[in-house]
Amino acid sequence: MNRTEMFSRVKSREKLWDFIVIGGGATGIGCALDAASRGFDVLLLEQSDFGKGTSSRSTKLAHGGVRYLAQGNLSLVREALKERAILLKNAPHLVKIQSFIVPVYNFQDKIFYGSGLKIYNLLSGKYGFGKSKILSKDETVKNLPNINQKNLRGGIVYFDGQFDDARLLINLAQTAAAQGATLLNYAGVFEISKNNAGKIDGVSFQDAESGAVFEAKAKVVINAGGAFCDSIRKMSAAKSEKIIAPSQGIHLVFDKKFLPGENALMIPKTADGRVLFAIPWHDKTLIGTTDTPIEKIELEPKPLETEIEFILETVKNYLTNAPRRADITSVFAGIRPLVKNSKTKNTANLSRDHTIEIDEANLLTITGGKWTTYRAMAEDAVNQAIKLAGLSAADCQTENLKIHGAAENSEQSGDLAIYGSDAENIRKLISENSDLEKNLHEKFSYKIAEIVWMIRNEMPQTIEDVLARRTRALFLDAHSAIEIAPKIAEIMAGELGKDSDWIAVQIREFNDLARNYIVE
Ligand SMILES: Cc1cc2nc3c(=O)[nH]c(=O)nc-3n(C[C@H](O)[C@H](O)[C@H](O)COP(=O)(O)OP(=O)(O)OC[C@H]3O[C@@H](n4cnc5c(N)ncnc54)[C@H](O)[C@@H]3O)c2cc1C
Repeated sequence: MNRTEMFSRVKSREKLWDFIVIGGGATGIGCALDAASRGFDVLLLEQSDFGKGTSSRSTKLAHGGVRYLAQGNLSLVREALKERAILLKNAPHLVKIQSFIVPVYNFQDKIFYGSGLKIYNLLSGKYGFGKSKILSKDETVKNLPNINQKNLRGGIVYFDGQFDDARLLINLAQTAAAQGATLLNYAGVFEISKNNAGKIDGVSFQDAESGAVFEAKAKVVINAGGAFCDSIRKMSAAKSEKIIAPSQGIHLVFDKKFLPGENALMIPKTADGRVLFAIPWHDKTLIGTTDTPIEKIELEPKPLETEIEFILETVKNYLTNAPRRADITSVFAGIRPLVKNSKTKNTANLSRDHTIEIDEANLLTITGGKWTTYRAMAEDAVNQAIKLAGLSAADCQTENLKIHGAAENSEQSGDLAIYGSDAENIRKLISENSDLEKNLHEKFSYKIAEIVWMIRNEMPQTIEDVLARRTRALFLDAHSAIEIAPKIAEIMAGELGKDSDWIAVQIREFNDLARNYIVE
């Protein structure tokens, strides 16, 4: 993907696009991929970087959702379990089967969670990832060496999917581009245009780099703005009522030593009646999440002090060597685009099913849902958009469409495994110039060649794009990410032809942002 080339396609476009998709998160890029792979002409516009919103800030689980099972939402669980398996099949380089252990401290819990997880297995049917099993106390301790053993009665092991959300998103964007879609980051939509009949016929957007404003016309417009979708709905119908009840969730990242071994820990009932996960992620321990109703929807949501304390206090009861505040290497927050329900005030009880709304001007809004179900959501939205715009019917192709980088046995590539089939191209860069093999920082495994590869192929425009979403440095260890920022800026400036003023501004802006990921 090359932004200059994508932009020139937009500028030279004379025909209508079939689809314009607003929003470059999992939902929007999923829709762009679905429509492009059915043969439609697609333009996707993202106001910031791809994945800047919620889609890089999830718990990174491709799961049916054991919590939704407890809420009795069997259809959502069954659909998500099927989608989990499709994800593993189509992106095996990014999605892996992860074992989770639920520790139990009394006999009733052993029966309750043991039978609940059996139902979870049954619901997955032919899409199962492995059978759940009851563990003795000794087996639980062997598999979770840091577990609090006081009154421990045993545990239950079950299996779900785990993935790197931002990397998957970038690979999905590349897959959509390969199917012919045009995707622009840093292109914020600020106006929707309508024809004489009052129906939507296009959008106006601003290129954040130059400040220039452009118009694009299409047969149908999809609003996939996530938690921001209400502001886009208002561009179409100024008096529309809000449908989003935003809720924030945070994650804390710690050293691997707090969760040694391969297994994840699932705490089935926190003080606020939710579940909490501790998961091995990129050689670190990721712990979350929370569910806090919020008023303000921001691209860079701020973790609340109460949320940080809540996670630290909860894990204290489950880990012998529990992490403390000073052990946090990064904290990040994301906003759930939950759809309002007039009957419930507690966002934890709101449905994770997706919602499609078509307004009087034919703006199609798709929101809610989960990362895991992005493909099914996109299929549903594109099916409805085809009817809405009177486009010729075409079948959905994504169930069997491999995602960019898909490769079996990618773990053989070691530190480059996450790139799947692209690992070979990165190794080629190194073979052409051995300087590119150098590591960027002792705390990370990233090599200069990876950064060069991303800049040339994955459309990052800022050092934040590289450190937050192409690599995950900022989300893993914010202090160390600040330390490598000057080096990243220098490599980007060389590749993109930027000057020393650009470098200085980039470093300053990144340092300001990275402070939000540090807990003092
Ligand atoms: C804390 C947390 C943990 C989660 N964990 C999981 C999990 O483990 N597994 C799972 O399956 N799901 C999980 N989810 C849910 C999942 O992350 C979300 O459902 C999904 O990422 C939403 O994607 P989206 O594309 O709808 O929204 P977003 O990713 O927020 O994308 C919307 C995009 O629209 C852009 N945009 C907005 N307005 C405009 C405009 N005017 N012009 C152009 N662009 C615009 C935004 O910049 C943004 O990038 C979690 C959610 C949260 C909050």
